[in-house]
Amino acid sequence: MGSNEPVSKPFPSKESITPFWRTELHELDDHRTTEELPESCDILIIGAGYAGITAAYHLLCNEETAPSAKPSVVLLEARQACSGATGRNGGHLRPSVYSRLTKWIKKYGLEAAEELAKFEFDHIRAVADVVKKEKIDCDFKLSRSFDIHTEPEVAAAAKKDYLELKKAGIAKTTIDDIVFTDGDDAEQVSGVKGCVACVETSAGQVWPYKLMMGLLSRAVSQGLNLQTHTPCTSITPSPITAGKWIATTPRGTITASKTIIATNGYTSALLPEYSTKIYPAKGICCRIVCPPSFTPPKLSSTYVLRLGNGSGDYLIQREDGSIIVGGARPNYISNTSSWLSNTDDSTLIPNAASYFDTYMQDNFAGWEESGAYVERIWTGIMGYNADENPSVGEVPGRDGMFVAAGFEGHGMPVIFLTMKGVAEMVGRGKRFEETGIPRMYKTTRERLESDYNVLVRGEGK
Ligand SMILES: Cc1cc2nc3c(=O)[nH]c(=O)nc-3n(C[C@H](O)[C@H](O)[C@H](O)COP(=O)(O)OP(=O)(O)OC[C@H]3O[C@@H](n4cnc5c(N)ncnc54)[C@H](O)[C@@H]3O)c2cc1C
Repeated sequence: MGSNEPVSKPFPSKESITPFWRTELHELDDHRTTEELPESCDILIIGAGYAGITAAYHLLCNEETAPSAKPSVVLLEARQACSGATGRNGGHLRPSVYSRLTKWIKKYGLEAAEELAKFEFDHIRAVADVVKKEKIDCDFKLSRSFDIHTEPEVAAAAKKDYLELKKAGIAKTTIDDIVFTDGDDAEQVSGVKGCVACVETSAGQVWPYKLMMGLLSRAVSQGLNLQTHTPCTSITPSPITAGKWIATTPRGTITASKTIIATNGYTSALLPEYSTKIYPAKGICCRIVCPPSFTPPKLSSTYVLRLGNGSGDYLIQREDGSIIVGGARPNYISNTSSWLSNTDDSTLIPNAASYFDTYMQDNFAGWEESGAYVERIWTGIMGYNADENPSVGEVPGRDGMFVAAGFEGHGMPVIFLTMKGVAEMVGRGKRFEETGIPRMYKTTRERLESDYNVLVRGEGK
């Protein structure tokens, strides 16, 4: 399975590898609020990952909607709650403000680029606030994060970009957050061997499954009807009531006034017009631990390590000293079918697993004698975009149907506020432009009809 050809019907695979985050399951993991699928609802959400769960949360747990005015909301999930990319990711909440800003400015212009940067940056505070407000025990931690460069030419280009952005006073709130270190100090400051430049920014880390299940729990307590193990196999206009949608599942049908498709890389199974826009893309992540005889050094920051050959490994250290690290792109990226258009998270990616075997010993000062080893390794399916931006908003030509998908390997600093905006559109009739969601995310007919495709033809990459 997998290639740069679109998949005809990408549904979640039945089996999947258990990621570290899903080793402590919540009571709602397999939950069905009602034994039978309800016949109808006001708002139907499909997909219980970060996007679907936060859509439900924002629809039902906001203070603006009076309890009597709350819509009836049903959430369908093909497998267990939070068993897709969200339950399998790196737990890294890291706005890519500095590393992407120059490219965004060139591609989209200054205003749209700054909007994207600020939106990501705002997620650190937004997630911190909701964790506190809802008192969710999810190991959330604010931190600093290092972007590590080991190749002198790449580091020099990064510095040039940084100085230009700084001189121009661009994205004031975000650029002021950046500390750039290069030369002899870089290794010492970052703790990474061979580092020639490091860029420090604000970030966060979290146990993603626990965060999501905390929010899901709140939404269920406010009336959400959760139906796990209920894949939606198709969604069609109601022949009886104009403007309504009928979702078909193996357990029967459900009619909804409005629907939110939050199915990530699997979106084109329900919305074929996205088959060359959002592709399933398999990623790999692992947990590294040390034998009890060795106390792992504390890492004060999180990391993205650019170690050459197109790598961009993401890494956090948990309170227990263990490391969650994912990436490994150099080991598999040229074998397209092993990851692109691939929906199989029940297997690893060939050649990628061994990438992490001595990762800490090889790259981090003080870990040489650690005996650190991969304790658990897993894969997950992301939604990659032909034009590198998520698709969010009302689906062109399908009134009352909304999509929020294609968050790539970068949903954590993007989805929470996106879904707040989607909930405002769906629940309160706001226009996309009134929600604060970056304009580049808006799903439009023009984007759907565009031939631009970085995944198939490598444009822009
Ligand atoms: C290995 C890996 C590491 C990552 N690391 C990071 C990281 O450190 N930081 C970061 O920001 N991002 C990371 N990401 C990306 C991030 O996890 C995603 O962007 C984000 O979780 C997407 O959330 P989602 O709700 O859109 O998708 P998902 O979490 O995949 O949720 C979609 C849900 O829809 C369900 N579904 C699909 N089709 C149907 C259907 N027809 N009927 C019913 N249900 C359906 C699926 O089962 C799934 O539960 C990583 C991803 C992976 C795979």
